[in-house]
Amino acid sequence: MTSLNLESYRLRFRRPFTIARGTRDGTDTVIVTLRHGSLTGYGEASLPPYLGTDDAMVKKFLSSVDLHRFTLDDTGTFLENAASLGPRNMPALAALDMAVHDLAGLHAGEACPLAFGTGERVSVPTCYTLSMADASDLESALGSAADFGMLKVKAGGPGDRAWLDAVATRSGKPFCVDANQGWTDREQVLDLLHHLSETGAVFVEQPMPARQDEDMRWLKARSPLPLIADESLQDEGDLDRVQDCFHGINVKLMKCGGMRPAARIIREARVAGMKVLVGCMSESSCGVAAAAVLAPMADWADLDGPLLIANDPFEGIEYRNGLLCTSGEPGLGIKRKNIRG
Ligand code: MG
Repeated sequence: MTSLNLESYRLRFRRPFTIARGTRDGTDTVIVTLRHGSLTGYGEASLPPYLGTDDAMVKKFLSSVDLHRFTLDDTGTFLENAASLGPRNMPALAALDMAVHDLAGLHAGEACPLAFGTGERVSVPTCYTLSMADASDLESALGSAADFGMLKVKAGGPGDRAWLDAVATRSGKPFCVDANQGWTDREQVLDLLHHLSETGAVFVEQPMPARQDEDMRWLKARSPLPLIADESLQDEGDLDRVQDCFHGINVKLMKCGGMRPAARIIREARVAGMKVLVGCMSESSCGVAAAAVLAPMADWADLDGPLLIANDPFEGIEYRNGLLCTSGEPGLGIKRKNIRG
């Protein structure tokens, strides 16, 4: 007997979170509980507004999955069948993929990273994110970031140069910049990229809107820093086009539908000689435990989501000395906490 429970949950941010698209106080997520016999696997569908889907669409999609076809003997075919259902819903597929892998790991008595060839226990450096709202109290934000070796700085507004200079000067740490499509003039962007390359920036993520491919090709040919596609790369189908415009990609489970497709994208990107960042949306320890499985395959990890929320419904990962560490327990190695969203 296999069953799926779908629970609406609101992840609340510790501090207002501001990026180029605006300020939010939280993110809706759907917690997926897959039960099969005596085993319980968990997954999560995080729903930042830009993904264009919502709680009701996730639940409708997952309700259409034929659970009679679930078997622990061939979870890959079950997930491929779910991915062929239309209209596809990537966060829903990601949640299902996590829950299936969690449950299969529990059944096998093995931690998920073993199934993906990334070891038993993952321990990787991760960035710590500063939102544009942190400009109002940078010292406090840098205090929260003290353990972390690299910062990810959200930008894409009119005061960017002063904001990024303040972070560079006061933190003294390497940092990457995520403009979230907020810059539109390629000449000005190139000028800023040269400035950033002299102040400790490591790479820049999605400087321009996803539709401005021609400007991105121009910029790629001239940029002194690696340019990483986030909004421009949603799933596998975008990889060919993005190769011409960026040096690397930000792979997130919510965009591509889970660990299985994400591992495929990372391998394809490597063959194409691209850099890889494994990232997350605002997600709980469930989504981040799953993304962490793939982090050893990447150049960088940006997996601090649980640190930014006040009501994480899961436990099982730890942040120690700037490292994200999975538990090494079977499956995703997480447990549901007794709190409601
Ligand atoms: Mg981004």
